[in-house]
Amino acid sequence: MPEKHVLQEDNDEEGSPHHTDLFGTVPKSCLPIVYHSNYNITFMGMEKLHPFDAGKWGKVIHFLKEEQFINDESIVEAREASEEDLLVVHTKRYLSRLKWSFVVATITEIPPLVFLPNFLVQRKVLKPLRTQTGGTIMAGKLAVERGWAINVGGGFHHCSGDRGGDSVPMPISHSPSRESTELLAECASSGVCMLFLFERVEGIARATIIDLDAHQGNGHERDFLDDQRVFIMDMYNRHIYPRDGYAKRAIKRRVELDWGTEDSEYLQKVELHCEGALNEVQPDIIVYNAGTDILDGDPLGGLSISPHGIVKRDELVFKAARRRGIPILMVTSGGYQKKTARIIADSILNLHQQGLIGPEGEGSSSVVTSMKSCPGSSGSALTAI
Ligand SMILES: [Zn+2]
Repeated sequence: MPEKHVLQEDNDEEGSPHHTDLFGTVPKSCLPIVYHSNYNITFMGMEKLHPFDAGKWGKVIHFLKEEQFINDESIVEAREASEEDLLVVHTKRYLSRLKWSFVVATITEIPPLVFLPNFLVQRKVLKPLRTQTGGTIMAGKLAVERGWAINVGGGFHHCSGDRGGDSVPMPISHSPSRESTELLAECASSGVCMLFLFERVEGIARATIIDLDAHQGNGHERDFLDDQRVFIMDMYNRHIYPRDGYAKRAIKRRVELDWGTEDSEYLQKVELHCEGALNEVQPDIIVYNAGTDILDGDPLGGLSISPHGIVKRDELVFKAARRRGIPILMVTSGGYQKKTARIIADSILNLHQQGLIGPEGEGSSSVVTSMKSCPGSSGSALTAI
């Protein structure tokens, strides 16, 4: 499968893609699991005062190390997306604007961030978001090469390069200004990732987004509203934010759930609609938004899925992709309960136990032959190609 995909080299010709550090060669010895400690959001202990775990990404890595599935050398270190990288989807005007706390709280689904002063948002939140976005772009390329990849972060599916529409923020009384609505920018991770692949990887012409976060993914829906290259399946709680009717037009397979939906109904729908979506259109890559805010007790999601249900859900999606030989990129998206990190780690371990992911030779084939050490993990630089 991967042989047909040829990565385009950077050159100075007019119209060629910009130079990026996110598309470098990754050695075969690394698992296509992307992460950086900068993913985690910390601000002088304030993060401990509320129930949202804004450091869940680091904990996932911790658990995976504890189970000896990974170590520092075997995973890929994410790089921060540069302004030029983000300009693939956003205009300079958006990126040069101030980033408001309310906007960042909305796109991360971490409501307490709304109370942060703006200068702290700049310093403490935007760098993590840009690094997670860089990680998604890197993982997209790895998924094409290896058949699968996981960014232990990313998936900010309320971000859009688009300026239109009404944004309804988190369940916090805070009225957005028109400017702040326009600022749903900066970190449109799955959108920007797919545009990178379309632009730079020969043979990648169609993508399917399977969005199983509890919220409607209106960001990427607005990004790809009239784009026939992208098929979007979205399954979400119909009663919660963002209820974006305009963006819904982009959803090719829409599954709306009611309050308190439980495992049996949920998993049945996941299987039915994943299979249905992939039978309808055979994409060159699947971007899987594996939000865990479907977990019972989530203050935002309003669904009642058990930890086992989440593990099973991820397994169903990976099985559907691997059975068809379609590369799959998973991002972790929303869901910030204290127990969330453990569930994400358990799910990744289960995918390995099921033979759906693993080191080279255990599952997928690869076209990468370089044997340099893992980017970043030993101080080596990514080679941009
Ligand atoms: Zn969500």
